[in-house]
Amino acid sequence: MERTLPQEHAMHKGSCLCGAVSFEVAGALPAPDACHCSQCRKQSGHFFASTDVARTALTIHGADNLTWFNSSEKVRRGFCSRCGSSLFWDPIRRDWIGVAMGAFDKPTGTRLGKHIFVAEKGDYYDIVDGLPQNQR
Ligand SMILES: [Zn+2]
Ligand SMILES: [Zn+2]
Repeated sequence: MERTLPQEHAMHKGSCLCGAVSFEVAGALPAPDACHCSQCRKQSGHFFASTDVARTALTIHGADNLTWFNSSEKVRRGFCSRCGSSLFWDPIRRDWIGVAMGAFDKPTGTRLGKHIFVAEKGDYYDIVDGLPQNQR
């Protein structure tokens, strides 16, 4: 029988599309948010789902291939310099960092928790999953 580790001891791995940047998050992943703000829309190509994890829980490999874009004074966004994959949403003065759900290998062991910045969402789709929606 396969031994399954409890979530709190889990190690969640992920990478960009080309594999130049990879990462691990130690422990269970908190429920991700889907952000529909105009910055996340433009940077991700749609909306951006990410999970906020403690900085100390995240290990990044291939950080030389990571480019950071300061999308505001307090936030920088990390993407792969080679393939462009959106990977990290980093509020630099906080002790946590957002990690893109699309970059994780499955299973993530979590479910989307809510939608945020719905006031800025695109007009070409509807949110019909019944989850809470915050206008901002
Ligand atoms: Zn890449
Ligand atoms: Zn956003």
